[in-house]
Amino acid sequence: MNGSDTSILLIYTGGTIGMMENPETGALENFNLEQLQRHVPELERFDFSIDTYTFDPPIDSSDMDTESWRKLVEVVSKNYARYSGFVILHGTDTMAFTASALSFMLEGLNKPVILTGSQLPIGVLRTDGKENLLTSLEIAAATREDGSPVVPEVCIFFENHLMRGNRTTKINAEDFNAFRSFNYPSLATAGIHIKYNLPQINTNHPTREEREVERSLNPHYLLDTNLTVLKLFPGIGQHIVDAVLHTPGLKGVILETFGSGNAPSKPWFLNALSEATQRGIVVINVTQCNAGTVEMERYETGYHLMQAGVVSGYDMTIEAAVTKLMFLLGHHYSPSEVRRLMMTPLAGELTR
Ligand code: ASP
Repeated sequence: MNGSDTSILLIYTGGTIGMMENPETGALENFNLEQLQRHVPELERFDFSIDTYTFDPPIDSSDMDTESWRKLVEVVSKNYARYSGFVILHGTDTMAFTASALSFMLEGLNKPVILTGSQLPIGVLRTDGKENLLTSLEIAAATREDGSPVVPEVCIFFENHLMRGNRTTKINAEDFNAFRSFNYPSLATAGIHIKYNLPQINTNHPTREEREVERSLNPHYLLDTNLTVLKLFPGIGQHIVDAVLHTPGLKGVILETFGSGNAPSKPWFLNALSEATQRGIVVINVTQCNAGTVEMERYETGYHLMQAGVVSGYDMTIEAAVTKLMFLLGHHYSPSEVRRLMMTPLAGELTR
């Protein structure tokens, strides 16, 4: 259900959805929003209004950075009162990072922010972009019987699935079905009907009174990128680990561990981590597995990590862990407070 007083802001950042082939080089290049709209005349047929905002120039999502996230937060927050929901067209490569970052930066969000894109440009005959765009708009405009938005959170819609943004990962560089939310159920599935999984949607669903206080959006702009991801592999060298942990300015490490949060139990490794955490570096344990959670108390190898001061990232995606750590470090909490908050769900990004 939606009404004529509904309006959506369509934000175009770039990505394959809006690219076309350069006839000389054969490489995909961005084109502008007007050209994109020309390929989707169906946009005229919605019974709600759609305004647009475009990044100038549009960017390949490999060029997304904290500045672009701040810009998105600013655009959403400045237009928050005027629109019922937001659809962000974004390259697929880093879409899950942007969705995760926005979920933390848009605190108190009670309107839909749906990111989508495509594997084939919208001008290509077999494009998946049209379907993704049109359904995302429909979802962003959908309301419950009391007029409240059906999905008041940051999501990714791709190939018939609506997923919580900070639970989603790009898993395929070829298939249309390119994203998965391994540790949280889909929020909706689009077939003949769009079927919403209401019990799983934004558990802090706002009351009517809360919704009416539109100032409740609390946009955040502070992010600190002094962190790194250290992916473990059998045989990882001491000099590499030492060099990473002694990187000047380093404040946080996402340690990508084996299985349920396990790592080598060699003394040099555990000592290096323990010494780093004592220097105030926050080390978060996230598993290399796509699905499942870190349980450091399960095996001795995980238990040693706990003793070295490493804290659990539970079932967070790498994208959620990286952006959450940027967000918390940016807000100048003490290392122990950052550790505590990394283990606390802030935007539905983890299950404990
Ligand atoms: N390189 C593109 C991007 O992420 C890929 C895509 O959109 O699918 O911007």
